[in-house]
Amino acid sequence: MVRPVAGDLRRPAHLTDEFLEGLVARVPGSGGATWKLTEVYTGEVLVELPQSTPEDIERAFLKARAAQAQWSQWPLKKRLAVFKRAHTLLVDNAHRTADLIQAESGKNRRMAVEESCDPPMVISHYLKRAPKALAPVTRGGPIPVLSTSTEIRQPKGVVGIIAPWNFPFATGLSDAIPALMAGNAVVVKPDNKTALSPLFGISLLEQAGLPKGLFQVVCGEGPDVGPTLIDNANYVMFTGSTATGRVIGERAGRNLIGCCLELGGKNPMIVLPDADRDEWVKGALFGVFGNTGQICMHIERIYLPDERYDELRDAFVAAAENLTMGATYDFEPELGSLVSVDHRDRVASHVEDAVAKGARVLTGGRARPDIGPAFFEPTVLEGVTNDMLAGSCETFGPVVALHRYRHVDEAIGLANDTDYGLNASVWGTDLDAARAVARRIHSGNVNVNDALATAYASKGTPSGGVKQSGVGARHGDQGILKYTDVQNLAVLKKQVMGAQPGQDYDAYVKQMLTSLKLMRRTRIR
Ligand code: NAD
Repeated sequence: MVRPVAGDLRRPAHLTDEFLEGLVARVPGSGGATWKLTEVYTGEVLVELPQSTPEDIERAFLKARAAQAQWSQWPLKKRLAVFKRAHTLLVDNAHRTADLIQAESGKNRRMAVEESCDPPMVISHYLKRAPKALAPVTRGGPIPVLSTSTEIRQPKGVVGIIAPWNFPFATGLSDAIPALMAGNAVVVKPDNKTALSPLFGISLLEQAGLPKGLFQVVCGEGPDVGPTLIDNANYVMFTGSTATGRVIGERAGRNLIGCCLELGGKNPMIVLPDADRDEWVKGALFGVFGNTGQICMHIERIYLPDERYDELRDAFVAAAENLTMGATYDFEPELGSLVSVDHRDRVASHVEDAVAKGARVLTGGRARPDIGPAFFEPTVLEGVTNDMLAGSCETFGPVVALHRYRHVDEAIGLANDTDYGLNASVWGTDLDAARAVARRIHSGNVNVNDALATAYASKGTPSGGVKQSGVGARHGDQGILKYTDVQNLAVLKKQVMGAQPGQDYDAYVKQMLTSLKLMRRTRIR
């Protein structure tokens, strides 16, 4: 059974009413409605969060659009200088940020601090890469020498971002950074539960010199805010569940605007027969239980080779039983809380359904109200099948199912037997063999000898889901270029197209066909 730890539950001293009220003061709420944003560990109300009306949202877009008209005229170098300063401020405030993330989401200290590092990592990457990615690219036109065509990247305008609660600071800020660098304004809608950390991050960006008005925040329940936000945006960046992603994608499609949808997963891990047991146990513990299982890329299904099943299962279960769990603002607990009592009940319902249909609980399986209102034990199941909720739907909690396989083809088939395709993991000491297995998994991300962090932290490579896990990607050049429209600026230095004076059309066509053959052979582009 997981080990509860009693640590420092005192809310960090700087989270005063005055500080929190100052943070939410920028959220428009002209209707007077508020939402009680609570500290997850205790259930105490931290602050009343204003709820934005459709008119508030329209006004936020007008302000953002006015600011964007100026910002897009700044030279890229001047825009990037803001982010250089912001990087320092974000790193220097990592602990204050982590305090807010912990208070509003209930996650443990390690995850909160690691989350605070994501926007600086994204900034570092695009500070180096944006000048190249956004630079105009001149290519040859249809008529060598006499024509050119230049690919010019122009900002889309105002980008609407809708963010979930599981990584509120990272998804609220990191997706906005390349959009802003590219010359856009942003209107973000965080989840009501977790609006504080993104609000704090935005205040740091403004301290670094981001023009006021450029980054707007609106708050409210998704179905209330979503339609007006999408109808006013030039592009939508959404992170959340597959069900909501479908709603967002449909509306964006009707409006003929682009969208990037980063959605859910049911992520598999295949352990090959030559895997190093101790390395795997350490990596799998984080992959399954990191952020209390509330990571879109976390592992919910593990496939173990038949000949090592008992050994690997017993080592993993023993390690899971040794984990520590607690409601504290220090680094002691390895697991924190789930985000809410509602979510705890959803996780519990998946375990209850699995047990009712014949699965076995190897460890965990229970809510822990003795530790805090929304705690749930790290849980390992055996005998899970696809007709169980925990077998086919995303549980998004600290619950994993172990499965046995006899041949690697069987393991790959089982890993791919899902509607999702966000993340996967393969473990083995023969890296070529592990890579070959990885390439056969239908997933936007696959980690070899890691669960998820290596792919996610590789900011130079696009990261997104396939199948029902999403459309588009963040990171890499795609992660900034998606926030731009391409202008094809074509120049012809002399009018030479068509038959020349005195040339009949037969001669003109013959010349054109000869030119086509020459153009294929020539190196001129
Ligand atoms: P959710 O879809 O319920 O909500 C996400 C956001 O969308 C919230 O801000 C919510 O208020 C808003 N929303 C809800 N309904 C809406 C609507 N009709 N119109 C507009 N906005 C609406 O998801 P969640 O439960 O908050 O987050 C967990 C899910 O997010 C999991 O499925 C997880 O896998 C996924 N996720 C994916 C990634 C990724 O990068 N692929 C990252 C983090 C989380």
